[in-house]
Amino acid sequence: MRRLKLVFALLAIIAQSFAAQPDRTVVIISWDGGKPSVMQKLVKEGKLPTVKALLSEGSYSWNAQTIVPSSTLPSHTSMVTGVTVQRHGVTWNDKFRENEGFVKVPTIFELAKKAGLKTAMVFSKSKLKQFAKPQTLDAEEYVGGDADKVAKVAVKVIEEVKPNLMLVHFSDPDSAGHGYGWGNEKEGVLPSREFLESLQRCDKATGEIVNALKRNGRWQRALVIVTADHGGHNKTHGSADPEDVNIPWIAAGGLAERNGELKQQIKTMDTAATALAALGLNVPDDWDGKPVWAALKDGGKVSMNGKKLPIVAEWKGNHCGITEPKQIVITDAKEWAEIWKQVHRGKIPVPKVPDIDFNKNMVLAVFMGQKPTSGYAIQITEVARSNGEVFAKLKETAPTKGAIVLQVLTQPFHIVVVPKVDAKVRFVE
Ligand SMILES: [Zn+2]
Repeated sequence: MRRLKLVFALLAIIAQSFAAQPDRTVVIISWDGGKPSVMQKLVKEGKLPTVKALLSEGSYSWNAQTIVPSSTLPSHTSMVTGVTVQRHGVTWNDKFRENEGFVKVPTIFELAKKAGLKTAMVFSKSKLKQFAKPQTLDAEEYVGGDADKVAKVAVKVIEEVKPNLMLVHFSDPDSAGHGYGWGNEKEGVLPSREFLESLQRCDKATGEIVNALKRNGRWQRALVIVTADHGGHNKTHGSADPEDVNIPWIAAGGLAERNGELKQQIKTMDTAATALAALGLNVPDDWDGKPVWAALKDGGKVSMNGKKLPIVAEWKGNHCGITEPKQIVITDAKEWAEIWKQVHRGKIPVPKVPDIDFNKNMVLAVFMGQKPTSGYAIQITEVARSNGEVFAKLKETAPTKGAIVLQVLTQPFHIVVVPKVDAKVRFVE
């Protein structure tokens, strides 16, 4: 009997680490035409208080990228399917084309629904129906109107339907941009007053949604992503120009890591992947989008519900023969000998290659690349398996401003041996 109990307990743990998390909420809030450079300026002027608060408690980029064409329907389709326009095939932007049928690739709503989670879409342009496939949404609300009206319906859906995954779409900035202008940075044209006001309306409406999550006790287990489908210049958009393609990407809420500005390049497809990862769902391997792990608490999974792998041996140093940044997984003796030789290039004699039983173990090696001085370091701080993957958490350090450093070239590295796991390894920063 006791043994049976133990088996059940183990089964419960396994089930938990692979299952969708029904107590979590992910809300993607898309400001249609929300140009990041203008938003950033308004934040500095204290005119977007909601965004300002989200920035201070989450992770963000003002330099995320949408697809080309940088237009509403193709871009939002990439945002919710995790793949490029070439793969999802929704190339048009005029309207919901019934004759084309719903988007052919899976949407995040579809995948979340399959995992038993609740989904919702509240949107203010009817063409977004193109990816609102039948039976994939518990609530589908088209609201023709401004951000304030959309937010009211979104709050009602949050309270009554309690979705785990939701897209909220405000069209105000796009309308104001087409009508009065996004501005043009290269030509020194300022954004129109109407455009600035539309962003302030979106900020207030976003605040209503954040407050609803807090009021309903869902904020601690929530991830809110504020982003956009495109920016704009003059009274148009759609091109590959950075003013059109750059989008904001701000992640906050209890499931977000407080990492501030992220240096990595975020793409709009990553929004889909990050949403699934935050819900504890597997991200399809062939997606163009990857989860922005740095924006998720504890790298998403590591130490949250993962099983730690012990580090059985390690080598660390500031000088090696590998001068490019690199993260590698080594699973056989031949490859290991080759890497060992490269690491010790220039050393006479090269130390003997340590014996590793690759039937039982594998090697994870990270190289920081060549640095101009001492004071840099890279470290694998933790390795864990979770959700069918192995996560290696990285910590990189650089000399602080004013620190005394040696004027020598360094190539920091860290190599660890961990038990072999037949799964994909992700290096998480
Ligand atoms: Zn537009």
